[in-house]
Amino acid sequence: MTAELISGTEISKAILEEIKQEVNEMKDKTGKVPGLVTILVGENPASISYVTLKVRTALNLGFNEIQDNQPEDISQEDLLALIDKYNNDPEINGILVQLPLPKHIDDKKVLNAIDPDKDVDAFHPVNVGRLMIGGDEVRFLPCTPAGIQELIVRSGTETKGAEVVVVGRSNIVGKPIAMMMAQKGVGANSTVTIVHTGTQDLATHCKRADILVVAAGVPNLVKPEWIKPGSTVIDVGVNRIGKNEKTGKAILRGDVDFAKAKEIAGKITPVPGGVGPMTICMLMRNTLRSAQRSM
Ligand code: NAD
Repeated sequence: MTAELISGTEISKAILEEIKQEVNEMKDKTGKVPGLVTILVGENPASISYVTLKVRTALNLGFNEIQDNQPEDISQEDLLALIDKYNNDPEINGILVQLPLPKHIDDKKVLNAIDPDKDVDAFHPVNVGRLMIGGDEVRFLPCTPAGIQELIVRSGTETKGAEVVVVGRSNIVGKPIAMMMAQKGVGANSTVTIVHTGTQDLATHCKRADILVVAAGVPNLVKPEWIKPGSTVIDVGVNRIGKNEKTGKAILRGDVDFAKAKEIAGKITPVPGGVGPMTICMLMRNTLRSAQRSM
């Protein structure tokens, strides 16, 4: 059996199209569009390329996008003042501070200064708490876990009562996706297990999973024999395992042995082209929802 491929590239395109339509409707009705500010401190090449992609996507969707670049030596006080300015700007619905920040700045302090109602990355402790409570309390879902849940739902995977095993317990992927899948409601209502570096027998847990979400950052951690036949496998890992000599581009692999796993799983995400494209898409949707709420 060969698994059905869950293409994040295709699904994210469809979602971006849906967002674009909603932006057009908002513009027709209210004359307004969602406003997103991306704050980039310094000139870290990886950060520049991430921000450029976010800015380009926001502009393509018709957002009011402000790219606010600040010098590497900006003081923490000035950065906090900048965030305060955008917190109080009614035209701005989402504030994104690109990490990492320079060493002299306390990134926790900066992220916690963002108004939780404009925190489209959903890293603020208030939004983490709201996610934990669930239901109507939730304003924003963190972007990568939200993308994972969309892939699960849009691939037609049954989540109610499903055994979900999440490999990894980070604050940005493992913990939030585990909590989201355990909540009541559509696309969730699952029985969730989190496994991590302290787990004694990873294989036994993974073998039970109807839905296996792997976010460890270890290439080929999940062996094909750990995969339950017919299950849905979401591989979040992005590991650079070398360079393509012709193109000079990094060769990327996930945390799952994809070539063999696809012969056992029912549905599986590739790396790249699986979870990756979903994150930015969910950031845009969070900004749109924030704008809709503010109106
Ligand atoms: P992290 O390093 O913060 O956390 C990794 C987690 O995996 C830890 O909780 C650890 O306990 C667990 N783990 C590591 N090795 C393990 C092992 N051998 N056995 C069991 N558990 C193990 O990483 P993260 O930020 O959660 O990211 C995980 C992976 O997902 C990385 O490869 C990262 O690049 C990728 N990622 C991709 C996206 C995206 O595609 N948009 C977004 C975020 C992270």
